[in-house]
Order: sequence, then C-alpha cells, then structure tokens
Amino acid sequence: MITVLRINHRPYRDKRITTHVALTARALGADAIVVDTEDGELKDAVNSVTHNFGGGFSIETGKNPIKFLKSFSGIKVHLTMYGIPVDECVQEIREKSLNRDVVVVVGASKVPFEFYEQSDYNVSISSQPISEVSALAIFLDRYFQGSELSREFGGRMRVVPTARGKMVKIIPDERECLNILHRAGADERIISHCEAVEALAVKMAELAHADLDLVRAGALLHDIGRTRTNGIEHALQGAKILTEVGNIDERVILIVERHTGAGIPADEAEKLGLGLKDFIPVTLEEKIVAHADNLYSGTTRTPLAEVVGRYRKKGLEKAAERILNLHRELSAICGVDIDSIL
Ligand code: SAM
Repeated sequence: MITVLRINHRPYRDKRITTHVALTARALGADAIVVDTEDGELKDAVNSVTHNFGGGFSIETGKNPIKFLKSFSGIKVHLTMYGIPVDECVQEIREKSLNRDVVVVVGASKVPFEFYEQSDYNVSISSQPISEVSALAIFLDRYFQGSELSREFGGRMRVVPTARGKMVKIIPDERECLNILHRAGADERIISHCEAVEALAVKMAELAHADLDLVRAGALLHDIGRTRTNGIEHALQGAKILTEVGNIDERVILIVERHTGAGIPADEAEKLGLGLKDFIPVTLEEKIVAHADNLYSGTTRTPLAEVVGRYRKKGLEKAAERILNLHRELSAICGVDIDSIL
C-alpha cells in the first residue's frame, strides 16, 4: 500500500494544487493520501472523483504529519530536490517494499528538517526545483515502471479513448436509471418489477463479490424494452433503447440483452425471430441479473422449482435445464442456495 503524505497544505492557497497531488496519487497507483490540514472541500472533491471513476483511493485530512511519519512502520520516502537521484534508489525502494507499505512525503512550502531526518530515503527528481505534482508523478511512474498507466479502476464512468473528441461511458446510478426508465415511458408495473429484481440481484452480487454498480444498473434497466413489447424480443429492444441513449456502458447493455431466462443460444434465437445471435449471459453480472429476474414474476418471488416447472409445462425443456444449471452455478459462487436469499 502506498500513502502520500501532503504537508503544509494551506487551504486558502493550495486547494487546487493539493487536489492535483491527490488526483495524481490516485491515478498513478497510490492507495491513499493524508493531508496535514483539515479541509472538507478537498475531501469532497477527491471522494467525488473516486466515486465516479472508481478505485479504492481514500483521503484523510487534519492529521499531524510528523506524528504520522514517526509512527509509520513501512518505508518512508521524502521527495525533495536536495535528495539522492531517483534512479539511484528506486529499485532498492521497490525491492524493500515488496512486503511493506510505503509513505511518500511531498511538501508545499519550506519543509522542516525533521522530515528529512525521519525519512529512510530523501529522493530527488532532478536537482532542479519542480512542482510536487510532477515530482510525485515521476516517482510513482519510476516505482511502478509504467505499469500503473494500464491499471483498471472499474469506476462507473469510463473514458473511451478517442483520437479526437470526448467520449465517456457511464454505469448509471439509481437516480439516473429511474430517469432513463421514465423517459422511455416505463410504467409503475415495470419499475416495481425492476426494483424487486434489483434488490435480489444486489444481494447475490454482494455474496459473489460482483461489480455492484453494474448489477444495480443492469437489474434496474433489464426490462426497459417492455416499454415497446412484452414479447421475447423485449431484451433486444431494451438493448436498442439503451444504445440510443448514447453514453451507457456496453456492459450494462449486454446485461439487458442477455437477461432472458438463462440466456438463449443462437440456434434457438434464430427460430424465435431474434436473428442468428447468441444471447447467453457470459459475465458474472449478466448471470446474476438474468437469474434474479427468473426468480420474480412482477414483484412476487418464485422458488426455483416453480419457475422450472412452468418452463417444462410449456415444453421448454432446454430452457428449464439452463435455468437449473445457472441456479446451481450461482449458488456455488454465492456459497448459499439462491432460493434461501430473501
Ligand atoms: N522550497 C521548498 C523546500 O525547500 O522544501 C520546496 C517547495 S516545492 C514547491 C514543493 C514540493 O515539491 C517539495 O516539498 C518537494 O516535495 C517537491 N519537489 C520540488 N522539486 C523537487 C525535485 N526536484 N525533486 C523532488 N521533489 C521536488
């Protein structure tokens, strides 16, 4: 774990640059930042980025920095233009920190000498005065040897790299999902069913350690296609509606498209008029939403045996078998029989 210790933060003057220290720390692989001066606005700004863009970054303010450094049991690195060149010591720091935490101290104005004395490594990023943001960025990049740039954050907002222009895909939160449902013309019946499925899907997702944002959005939106049709093609229609919204994360759209029963293989889909396309749920999140939906008709919870019985009565033996298998698979992942999750 890497913590950045930001000292001498003056809220009236350093708000922007300390925010940039925190964002740089977060984006380039650090896990937390500790700031000496209490600053609620700074905390809100950083937490809001983490909420939207993901990762488990944390921020604390109002901590006595020298006490923090003295009691820190891991490796203490202080970035200063007066220190040892980074390339002479970063490998040693990396090796020594295999099983130990690291704190990286960066200053704002003049840094008291005590911090130099308390640190295991006083490290310079060139002997020229630069900013704490660039010093921290270069240190982290050398420490992680560039691998930090391809780290996955799993946030609800994802930038899609484009040569020109801006594209951000989102996993809509609960409020946004309800807005999308209302705009598509969903009535109370559709919405209350989606909410019932969401509640069960989220419980399964917690047990299965699945992506909660994704499951929540996929479950709330899974039946949006019923605003156009109640036929078997409602899942495909739902995916179309969400694609037309323009900024919905592809993973949410696939949950909606693959939620019918325990999925429909391409040969069956073709016979049902859905085209030669595979609608089998692939990801854990797709499977969870599909199966939570299997266990609800409207807002009434239905036990697996009854669901399977209904499919069999209609002569849909293969679909019944797939639902049974999905139930077994998810029960094993969750560690409990899904029927017992209330
Ligand atoms: N004059 C201050 C001092 O004597 O400590 C430095 C202030 S500087 C604007 C703010 C912070 O940027 C420093 O505390 C240090 O953490 C970082 N910094 C600036 N230049 C650096 C360099 N060349 N190498 C490493 N860190 C640097």
